[in-house]
Amino acid sequence: LNRRLAEFGTTIFAEMAALAIRTGSINLGQGSPDVDGPEEVREAAVRALRDGRGNQYPPGPGVPELRAAVCAHQQRWYGLEYDPDREVLITAGATEALAASLIALLEPGDEVVALEPYYDSYAAGIAMAGGTRVPVTLRPDPEAGRYRLDVDELRDAVTDNTRLILLNTPHNPTGTVLTREELAAIATIAIERDLYVVTDEVYEHLVFDEHQHIPLASLPGMRERTVTISSAGKTFSFTGWKVGWVTAPPDLLAAVRSAKQYLTFVASGPFQHAIAEALTLPDSYYAGLRDELAVKRDLLADGLATAGFTVFRPAGTYFITTDIRPLGPEISADGDGLAFCRGLPERCGLVAVPNQFFYDNREAGAPFVRFAFCKRMSVLEEAVDRLKQLT
Ligand code: PMP
Ligand code: GLN
Repeated sequence: LNRRLAEFGTTIFAEMAALAIRTGSINLGQGSPDVDGPEEVREAAVRALRDGRGNQYPPGPGVPELRAAVCAHQQRWYGLEYDPDREVLITAGATEALAASLIALLEPGDEVVALEPYYDSYAAGIAMAGGTRVPVTLRPDPEAGRYRLDVDELRDAVTDNTRLILLNTPHNPTGTVLTREELAAIATIAIERDLYVVTDEVYEHLVFDEHQHIPLASLPGMRERTVTISSAGKTFSFTGWKVGWVTAPPDLLAAVRSAKQYLTFVASGPFQHAIAEALTLPDSYYAGLRDELAVKRDLLADGLATAGFTVFRPAGTYFITTDIRPLGPEISADGDGLAFCRGLPERCGLVAVPNQFFYDNREAGAPFVRFAFCKRMSVLEEAVDRLKQLT
């Protein structure tokens, strides 16, 4: 492995998934739904395959039906207008969209300010693009029960070498949904310092209670400098289909498209057709997904709290971040999330992921552990039952 990638051996998801299999544990590590998305969308994929739609290379930017559907989605949910021919790109999941955006927009040595903890592909994507990451740490606020962005810290992180801010809301792994005030502060900094923003909004529809997802591109002055990324993997529970998309103004979109051409060129032909249909599902589908996940969140969050964790009840995503320190030095391995996760199968037959892998500043992330709740109720009930063995 070259020097740029030397630090990225195997992902923590692979290590923890292997541990779950080896020990027969319930895997609440990887964010992988254990129930597939809607039957009618699977049927749409079968029809596309059978009727020969997408079995050969689809058009580079994505099939026209899906690009039109993505535009209709941005209009329907956020009142954002995009041109399907010049401002939309279909990608092999959000992962490729992120990599292509970073490769397209960064010169070697450019700095990327990213909110930490961050999804692990960000660091690798920045490294592959030859950029330098500059983390701004989201801090837990146990009183508010959420993580907060320190806007001054963000402002101080920006230098003359900063090219872009890399954002994620709703946020993996903390479950935080950035507020309008936080987003407005980010927008002000981006405009003042003339920065691009790449915003990963894959959990846009997994938002609970009174919380609301606000796309950064909808703020004044932001559409023209924002690359927005989302994925059907999350909204429709088809993570294996790898259908993602980018919306951006024409100049930025063209740059991302150039990079994407030489990564996969195209992907997921028949699935693109199926997701075009999925995006037309009625509001009740989205509400159902949200309501079901909120019940699951509450079940697992309550179980974790009863077991003694400090729980950051997520406003969005399907992840719960916990602080393990209240479990005491022995069980929490002195507040070391990695050691705790490695021992968790033996203690109670569960697998989770240590948040420290989402930090540059490993120490800041050490005592935090993430549990995924995109699982069947019976699985979560069993997990909560097993948590009782912990203490
Ligand atoms: N961004 C975030 C924040 C994610 O959690 C994930 C899924 N793990 C991705 C991007 C990748 O999405 P996809 O599977 O569509 O590539
Ligand atoms: N996005 C999912 C997660 O954060 C899956 C990650 C993966 O397997 N690469 O768990």
